[in-house]
Amino acid sequence: MPDIGQLTINTATLRKQWGLKDIIAGVAQMGIRGIAPWRDQVAAAGLKEVAAQIRDTGLAVSGYCRGGMFPAIDRTGRLAARDDNRRAVDEALTIGAECLVLVVGGLPKDGAQRIVSKDIAGAREMVRDGIGELLEYARPAGMKLAIEPLHPMYAADRACVNTMAHANDLCDELCPSGRDGLGIAVDIYHVWWDPQLKAQIERAGAKDRLYAYHICDWLVPTKDLLNDRGMMGDGVVDLPLVRSWMEASGYRGLHEVEIFSERWWAEDPRTVLATCIERHARVT
Ligand code: ZN
Repeated sequence: MPDIGQLTINTATLRKQWGLKDIIAGVAQMGIRGIAPWRDQVAAAGLKEVAAQIRDTGLAVSGYCRGGMFPAIDRTGRLAARDDNRRAVDEALTIGAECLVLVVGGLPKDGAQRIVSKDIAGAREMVRDGIGELLEYARPAGMKLAIEPLHPMYAADRACVNTMAHANDLCDELCPSGRDGLGIAVDIYHVWWDPQLKAQIERAGAKDRLYAYHICDWLVPTKDLLNDRGMMGDGVVDLPLVRSWMEASGYRGLHEVEIFSERWWAEDPRTVLATCIERHARVT
């Protein structure tokens, strides 16, 4: 059996095969260190029940997915986002998550979730203000917030923070040190291509801002922009190199496998977990 090491599983990786209770049990049975669940899965399984099951299994919770989606076209929408993010912080505390992952949102939407603005600069201001406001709620409660920069192909609809540099700039503006509760989730899928990746990981590490490390691989060709992430070792990312940058910058946390993939969702979930363990030990 390969060494499990720092492996943790983002529960989206198995979402089509198993409900959250089965995922937690399956991950624990394989001896994996942790999980990172999604809010909709927790809601379906019941927050208290999930928290109790996680405690019983002794699994770490490497992150909670997700908060964010701050921009909205009117005040009603922004207040709804604020309230929903506060609930996400409360849930993250209940399940003992290491951090709440923020997918910050793209162009402003209306109440029917239609994009109704082309003002991306304005969207970025709403993101900054939204994170700053949420930090005032999360910091005293003891929940860390991790900004996840997303690949630029998602700038319109999911996240208008697309580079590590932008995430670091936001952290500099809102929170002088990562010890004060605002940091970054580094997801290989989104940032592997960035010529500044090494320098920006070092910049984040110097301020204790490296809160999470999400791994998968970039397939060539990528057939679907959302649901065709690769298993580690099947794509073009130099995973050991990026891991070495993370570790040289002080990151000692878990390595979270997060794979949205129709190909892997069609597999037996135990095969997926066994493959994650083997690939994590061998190619990351
Ligand atoms: Zn991620």
